[in-house]
Amino acid sequence: MGRLDLHLHSTHSDGSQPPAEIIAMAHKADVRALAITDHDILTGLPDAVEAARPLGIDVIPGVEISSRFDDDELHILGYYFDPADPTLLARLKTLRESRHRRNPLIVERLRDLGVSLTYDEVRELAGTDAVGRPHIARLLMEKGHVKTAKEAFDRYLARGKAAYVARELPEPTEAIRWIRDAGGVAVLAHPLWVKRTGEALRKLCEKLKEAGLGGIEVHYSTHTPQQTSDFLNLARHLDLLVTGGSDYHGLTKPDIEVGTGRGNLTVPDKLLEPLKNAAAI
Ligand code: AMP
Ligand code: FE
Ligand code: FE
Ligand code: ZN
Repeated sequence: MGRLDLHLHSTHSDGSQPPAEIIAMAHKADVRALAITDHDILTGLPDAVEAARPLGIDVIPGVEISSRFDDDELHILGYYFDPADPTLLARLKTLRESRHRRNPLIVERLRDLGVSLTYDEVRELAGTDAVGRPHIARLLMEKGHVKTAKEAFDRYLARGKAAYVARELPEPTEAIRWIRDAGGVAVLAHPLWVKRTGEALRKLCEKLKEAGLGGIEVHYSTHTPQQTSDFLNLARHLDLLVTGGSDYHGLTKPDIEVGTGRGNLTVPDKLLEPLKNAAAI
């Protein structure tokens, strides 16, 4: 019995380690199957599949899409979609374009605050088309403006801070539809982040289920045992699938490891089959 990790970020978005390295770490952590869920991009999949093959690790197509929720964000994970679906690829490209419209505005604000950097430098550090705030945070670390990514977010980049700029985001129902249109299963990522509990969270998940949501990320690095149990009950109550993952990012979340999160994460591999069966392809 191995474990799963269905939430991982690589250098193809805002993670700091390439897919092959993630696969090697997954192997050491006894991960049997995983999904690289980069933000708005699928280019990490071929390298992951190639690195995983000799180790017998199953790589599932995955993606994470940020959507708008009140004045905050709600993240939707997608699995088992067709990674060559041209409509999905075009939709993800529009999301990356919205990043390229927002990011220079963040850079401008930072410069107004006396932090010297250019968007070209950010893009060079990122080395991918899916450029995110964690790349800006890493550049600020490299330049010595902050010691940690957390400090970069707390001082500048988090919502409400001096260099924060919102970007255009799809509605949660759209993100779900995009994944379903490509044959995949849509899952509510880290339900802890939506800052709703009890009745309010149940109502939200009911609405998302009506829009096509297939599951909830019950197992997550920063969930407490109580939260895991609450989200599990919610998933059962609404007849939604249960998934889980670490949300590994490497350098910008240094306390989180592939497969084991902060050390106490275990995503049972029996969860994979129902997820696969729920996909349309
Ligand atoms: P973006 O998608 O470019 O708006 O950036 C959001 C991403 O930043 C999230 O998906 C997380 O990976 C990361 N993030 C958000 N808050 C923090 C934080 N406090 N510390 C480190 N990373 C964060
Ligand atoms: Fe991220
Ligand atoms: Fe997320
Ligand atoms: Zn994530």
